[in-house]
Amino acid sequence: MFMINNNLSQKQFLGKICDILYCCHVYLNAICYLRFPAVFCALYYKHMDFQLTEEQIAVQLAARDFARTELLPGVIERDEKQKFPAEQIKKLGELGFLGMMVNPKYGGSGMDTISYVLAMEEISKIDASVSVCMSVNNSLVCWGLEKYGNEDQKQKYLTQLARGEKIGAFLLSEPEAGSDATSQRTTAEDKGDYYLLNGTKNWITNGNSASYYLVIAQTYPEKGHRGINALIVEKDSPGVTVGAKENKLGIRGSDTHSIMFQDVKVPKANRIGDDGFGFTFAMKVLAGGRIGIAAQALGIASGAYELALKYSKERKAFGTEISNHQAIAFKLADMATEIEAARLLCHKAAWTKDQGLDYTLSASMAKLFASDIAQRVTNEAVQIHGGYGYVKEFHVERLLRDAKITQIYEGTSEVQRIVISRTVLKG
Ligand SMILES: Cc1cc2nc3c(=O)[nH]c(=O)nc-3n(C[C@H](O)[C@H](O)[C@H](O)COP(=O)(O)OP(=O)(O)OC[C@H]3O[C@@H](n4cnc5c(N)ncnc54)[C@H](O)[C@@H]3O)c2cc1C
Repeated sequence: MFMINNNLSQKQFLGKICDILYCCHVYLNAICYLRFPAVFCALYYKHMDFQLTEEQIAVQLAARDFARTELLPGVIERDEKQKFPAEQIKKLGELGFLGMMVNPKYGGSGMDTISYVLAMEEISKIDASVSVCMSVNNSLVCWGLEKYGNEDQKQKYLTQLARGEKIGAFLLSEPEAGSDATSQRTTAEDKGDYYLLNGTKNWITNGNSASYYLVIAQTYPEKGHRGINALIVEKDSPGVTVGAKENKLGIRGSDTHSIMFQDVKVPKANRIGDDGFGFTFAMKVLAGGRIGIAAQALGIASGAYELALKYSKERKAFGTEISNHQAIAFKLADMATEIEAARLLCHKAAWTKDQGLDYTLSASMAKLFASDIAQRVTNEAVQIHGGYGYVKEFHVERLLRDAKITQIYEGTSEVQRIVISRTVLKG
């Protein structure tokens, strides 16, 4: 649906011409009038563009419309019954939201990361159980395969995943290996033309609904994290068992399971990258994944804020709408400010990735901040709703429960602080 088209490339081309003309104009001014400081400021600000493109706005509106019409009805029931949103995910795939950044030649929508962040925010405002599935498929599985998979792997697996015909899962965590992902106990023994996979993975999103797993496993224990491999494993391979669905605090519709491997034969052709590349693969993929989770946290926060804002103008106490009480108005001011700051961090991280720059730091900052404000904003949204915020019909209690996971998965907040502090201390 959202394929990159010729109009877009023409526009981008015209944009570049305008940029060049603008630079020439500024340069000539500089030479003629020696107004260097003003010139440099002008150049700098020319490149601070906070406006979304028409295409990005179209994606945002389409995601918003989908969330309201397809996700809102039934979201409370799905949460209560822990029902996986299979139908909704199928439709999401048909609209191109499951392979958003994948090149159209592999069945994707060919969009930028900013568009992905915009869509993630809109979907997460209504149903974070759907957006986590979308995030894993887009940023961990599809992106990982497109960036590091070989042509055969892309043809065989990526195309179906990007079209949403199949769903993928990313299997790194284990009972004894969470934040310390180097302690992989799952083994992928080299048996010549195949690997023999044994072990257990924990907390796997899309664990039951996925057809293809990207599994991180240890091949050479003596080499530590340099002995780890990443393998594509088909869920229906003999020896794969899916454990019971986890009974969770939030994102209860999402499909979280343990996955057990017993003597599973994985063809060598299914290894991603060189022998021993698995740990680097996992870290690279997770850095991008954090932008998706940051956007999820942002969406949960902005969904709760929009509900609280509306409610504050309707609910009356002491003869007036509660928004007229300064205590409530100031809460709304803080929520709006924090959300805006989180949005800027998310967009900066997405932009950095789209520019081909190193986005590890900006992704961690965005995830750390957005997940923290998701906690605070959803908590305040419940407070603004008073007793009504404590019951399911008003949605904000679910958003409060959903917000918590964004501080835990794809690297806890403590792990994000490790990543950020290491970078800032290096100078
Ligand atoms: C709903 C859900 C879905 C998930 N989906 C997936 C998935 O699809 N694929 C996947 O592979 N994993 C998934 N996970 C796993 C998730 O990524 C891990 O739970 C997370 O990385 C934390 O690992 P852990 O639970 O083992 O906690 P631990 O690593 O045991 O951490 C416990 C606490 O100690 C802190 N801690 C640990 N080490 C340090 C340190 N060096 N310094 C300071 N503090 C530290 C942590 O921050 C945390 O607060 C999911 C988890 C959940 C709950």
